[in-house]
Amino acid sequence: MPLHNPFRLLGEGLVTPSRGHILLGLCLLLVSTSVQSQEIIAHRGYWKINGSAQNSIDALMKADSIKAYGSEVDIWLSSDGIPVVNHDADVTLDGEKLVVQDTPFATLRKVTLANGEPLPTVEEYLDAFARCIHTKLIIEFKPHRTKEQEDELAVKVIDMVNAKGLSDKVEYISFSLHLVQQTRELAPNAPVYYLNGDLAPEALSKMKASGPDYNFSVFQKNPEWVKEAHELGQKVNVWTVNNPEEIQKMIDLKVNYITTDEPLLVKEILDKQ
Ligand code: MG
Repeated sequence: MPLHNPFRLLGEGLVTPSRGHILLGLCLLLVSTSVQSQEIIAHRGYWKINGSAQNSIDALMKADSIKAYGSEVDIWLSSDGIPVVNHDADVTLDGEKLVVQDTPFATLRKVTLANGEPLPTVEEYLDAFARCIHTKLIIEFKPHRTKEQEDELAVKVIDMVNAKGLSDKVEYISFSLHLVQQTRELAPNAPVYYLNGDLAPEALSKMKASGPDYNFSVFQKNPEWVKEAHELGQKVNVWTVNNPEEIQKMIDLKVNYITTDEPLLVKEILDKQ
């Protein structure tokens, strides 16, 4: 059987189409560099409509229905080691405040969200997320009292994401430096952003974070951080931007992602650019 002659192949078959490909690539590059746009992340899902609630499964599905780039969600570990969805460090049950980290799951389960859903487990949330078509899940690991709890949360959730085949659709964020570092090790291919606003892009590169995900006031004080982050190959996310003027300022700063409670307003402003 004759062996392929690579030079013959190059001369006859590949040169002409590859010129076409190069031309097409150049056109696409011109188009992509001339259009600067931001992606929208729905903060705690798209919940600001009748019948929904922050961090509910309904809000996740609604974020998907408006084709948001991402739907953000906050998660904690119950006292008996079940990852659950909730924003605050505590919940209110029958008028009593309960700290999520100190409460067993069976009790947390009795909490109902504003739309009547029971407080979801991360497992239930991921199962619903598997039905989403457009939206990525932006998982916020909440800082816990001990590093052991943070490790347990990160291991359990990342294992769950992997087991359900969702790793390509999930990104992670945290205020906890320890959780950012642990997530980077446990999910080396996933985007991982740091939320706390106190580190310049160069420091984020050293810890291999994907970039800053800071409150908009941080970028107003340090606008040069956006450019610095981009020069280091990072992406920049900003939260929680709900007011038209602030939205426009962040668009002008050329951040990559805008996290908002008003995803349709951000979309409308972006469409006018
Ligand atoms: Mg959050």
